[in-house]
Amino acid sequence: MAPGREANMAYLSLPPDLRAELFIYAREAHPEEACGFLIGTQDAEPRTQNFAIAAVRPARNLHPSRDDRFTIDPLDYAKAEGYCARHKKKALRILGFWHSHPQSAPEPSPVDLEWAQGLYESFPERYLYLIVSLRDPDRDELAGWQLDARGEAFQSVEVR
Ligand SMILES: [Zn+2]
Repeated sequence: MAPGREANMAYLSLPPDLRAELFIYAREAHPEEACGFLIGTQDAEPRTQNFAIAAVRPARNLHPSRDDRFTIDPLDYAKAEGYCARHKKKALRILGFWHSHPQSAPEPSPVDLEWAQGLYESFPERYLYLIVSLRDPDRDELAGWQLDARGEAFQSVEVR
């Protein structure tokens, strides 16, 4: 299924240093997939609900086929929650997840959709998904995604 390209009001702001950090993790894990958490804040304005990323925490990828799959180490969830708790004043929370595609475009795979839908069934939260692609060695590619309101398909989230 092709990911949806319908307009999404919300955008995601990712500071250049955090963007660079994601590509460092992705290159370190290459040719395997890297993964982790997107931590930050969401503005309260209901019309926009823009996301601001404040930290990109790496996680251990426990999947046995790490060249095209990832499974986040459950211990790293606890660490990410701990990170948010230590920065309570900034109201940080886990906004979503990032992972790398060593060979393919920064678009969600059918497996990514299945994973996000499984999560959506357990948690009504509309998590953000950021995919970092290393397919082109001369160009750092990255794209943001979010399930639509019914949890049926991914729609693009603009990264600024
Ligand atoms: Zn993927």
